Amino acid sequence: MVGEAASGSGLAASWTRVRNRLRSEYGEVAFENWLNRLDVADFSGDSLVLSAPSRFMRDWVAPRYGDRIRALWRLEDPSVRTVDIVVGEGNTVSFKQESPLERAPERVADRPGRPIHDEAVTALLDPKLTFDNFVVGKPNEFAHAAARRVSEAENAPFNPLFIYGGVGLGKTHLMQGIAWSLRKRQPHKQVMYLSAEKFMYRFVRALRFKNIMGFKELFRSVDVLMIDDVQFMDGKDATQEEFFHTFNELVDQGHQIVISGDRSPSDLEGMEERMRSRLGCGLVAEVHSTSYELRLGILQAKAEGSAGSKVPDKVLEFLAHKITSNVRELEGALNRVVAHATLVGRPIALDSAQEVLHDLLRAHDRRVTIEEIQKRVSDYYNIRVAEMSSARRAQMVARPRQVAMYLAKQLTSRSLPEIGRKFGNRDHTTVMHAIKRIDQLSQSDPSFAEDVELLRRTLES
Ligand code: ADP
Ligand code: MG
Repeated sequence: MVGEAASGSGLAASWTRVRNRLRSEYGEVAFENWLNRLDVADFSGDSLVLSAPSRFMRDWVAPRYGDRIRALWRLEDPSVRTVDIVVGEGNTVSFKQESPLERAPERVADRPGRPIHDEAVTALLDPKLTFDNFVVGKPNEFAHAAARRVSEAENAPFNPLFIYGGVGLGKTHLMQGIAWSLRKRQPHKQVMYLSAEKFMYRFVRALRFKNIMGFKELFRSVDVLMIDDVQFMDGKDATQEEFFHTFNELVDQGHQIVISGDRSPSDLEGMEERMRSRLGCGLVAEVHSTSYELRLGILQAKAEGSAGSKVPDKVLEFLAHKITSNVRELEGALNRVVAHATLVGRPIALDSAQEVLHDLLRAHDRRVTIEEIQKRVSDYYNIRVAEMSSARRAQMVARPRQVAMYLAKQLTSRSLPEIGRKFGNRDHTTVMHAIKRIDQLSQSDPSFAEDVELLRRTLES
């Protein structure tokens, strides 16, 4: 469903209104420096694409203003779901022109129901996310090799390829790398890349417009189907059912499927068992957390790419040492340092970098690991750390273990299965039970609640 804003003059008028709002919210300087350089590059259905004149500009604008721009657009047209910012018009790459939906309208149109081929299904690919720009190191070499193999093979070498790992570690980059590479090497192949959310959204639309035939046809006509962030397909039964059938048919026909998720197939709690086992039956490749060497390598590659300001090795080493969470934050930190130096017109140096990033660095210093929690809690209750992973159920070790699980959930961003694994490979339901139990006890026993609170505070400081 395309709202008012999609029609030509409506679009221009909306854009003008959004720009005026941005100008008044962020002020003249920010507007002239950054926002005024954006243009509408594409609008199709639920996604709006803006173009920025340079990569630097894009990397600056997207994290700072992206959400606000999207929110303002949604006031103009609530059907807009994503706003992407791409680099330069010439670089705006869309599979739209070549995607099956545009190539095969007749074939689909003579099916019953309304063709859903009225707008782009495939997400825009980011020109930056190619294999050439992907830095390979120990933590990601296996996933990278698997992705390469898929993009070079004539027939699906393993099906599906399932890539998983934490946020910001390069899963989307690898998938888009596959898409770009296929496009270059095997342009005859129809490649479809989209998020699991978009897949669900499509499906719900097809249901609403009674066009399941068109939906099936569309997804089953592709040679390579890539679905990103499959964990978001959780719990939507009908979509999962349809995904399952699409999946099986594509695999039966020997078409390649590539899936990404934030955890391994067996840990996708929201998925039906048969789907989980299907997802895990090809090749499962994990993208591990970054190592210092990989982070430094990535920073060096990015710093080389950013024209103009030279980033001293000391600063790169400092960043690689300090920003350990994921590559996205690492890139963000580098961008901030570069942008700051550019704006104030001074060369990049270690002390100014530290200053620019002080809030980020503080947040990092505060991040607690499950190991620290286990250690602190064991000390507090005077038990051995090994009891955190032991099978003993005696109250004197079981209770502290539950406290540690509870704190792990509260103080880290780990999922329940991840936490369970760190506690002697326990099931996520055990962790869930522990959290409930500690909540109950805290309510009924004030001195127990105090213990937990004290532990939390010492861990957080
Ligand atoms: P995920 O999909 O796993 O959350 P992304 O693929 O979106 O992560 O990666 C986050 C950012 O980090 C992207 O800008 C990506 O280009 C960059 N990135 C991740 N891994 C690498 C790598 N090995 N080399 C270069 N850039 C990387
Ligand atoms: Mg991703």
